[in-house]
Amino acid sequence: MRIDLHCHSNASDGSLEPALLCERALACGVDLLAITDHDTVAGFAAASAWLQQQGAPLRLLPAVEFSCVWQKLSVHVVGLDIDIDSPAARDAVAYFLDARRRRAELIGARLAKLGMPGACEGALAVAGASQIGRPHFARFLLQRGYVRSEDEAFERYLGAGKAGDVQVLWPTLEEVVAWILAAGGVPVLAHPLKYRQTAARLRRLVAAFKAAGGAALEVVVGRQGADDTRFMAQLCRQHELQASVGSDFHRPGLWAELGDIGPLPAECEPVWSRWSDAAATRPLQRVKTDY
Ligand code: AMP
Ligand code: MN
Ligand code: MN
Ligand code: MN
Repeated sequence: MRIDLHCHSNASDGSLEPALLCERALACGVDLLAITDHDTVAGFAAASAWLQQQGAPLRLLPAVEFSCVWQKLSVHVVGLDIDIDSPAARDAVAYFLDARRRRAELIGARLAKLGMPGACEGALAVAGASQIGRPHFARFLLQRGYVRSEDEAFERYLGAGKAGDVQVLWPTLEEVVAWILAAGGVPVLAHPLKYRQTAARLRRLVAAFKAAGGAALEVVVGRQGADDTRFMAQLCRQHELQASVGSDFHRPGLWAELGDIGPLPAECEPVWSRWSDAAATRPLQRVKTDY
């Protein structure tokens, strides 16, 4: 059984339309998929309709990747199997749609001060119907020749601690976990190693996540080193959390491919045990469990 519980469509900063993302996941042999767009669930309906129409053997979980802050650190929390029609999910998505627009204006103002005007309008044009994010600013800066690559845009202007790293509108870790729980979903701390924290501070983050009601950690993200996997498995054990896995796929050729994820240590309790039994026999039906 091939599982991928973290990837992006063009509803946020991925390059593929939701249906094409599903088609690619099938080609990659994925059986259970969660599309976890940044702060939006706009891709789910199209993906799910396409799968149903194809009768494709892929179980799709309604999911999201929420932005938040914990002690001035930008953190991402994935919500798996959320009820996207619940008041909590609707409230959260509406909040973020507005917050991301306002944040884009703030980023634009900061870049203008650095001599790069028109970035908000430019990034919105790049984003089109997609949820606006820093990658759209990176592409705008590249198009205008302010940087030679999107990587450079993040290194100089958009990455952690740079001018475009605007967090003021993000909710707290506790708030997004509460939203996910209220929407009947399973909160998963996304890519803990990506935050580049010391082991001690990462432990404090995981403890705060657990205390807030968090259920699982992303133990394996794409193809990572065995030491990293062991460390994540240890954090799961210490904090009694389940384990999730994902590629964080954004576009072909960038980072990991869909479903191309290293093995999960046997000691870990997979978060997908909640859904995988049903996946074999009832690929497209949502199964509500109690948690
Ligand atoms: P946002 O959701 O607007 O805060 O933007 C964060 C997104 O930017 C991440 O999900 C990545 O897709 C992308 N990103 C973050 N850091 C980098 C980087 N150094 N180079 C390229 N893309 C990045
Ligand atoms: Mn992204
Ligand atoms: Mn993320
Ligand atoms: Mn992601």
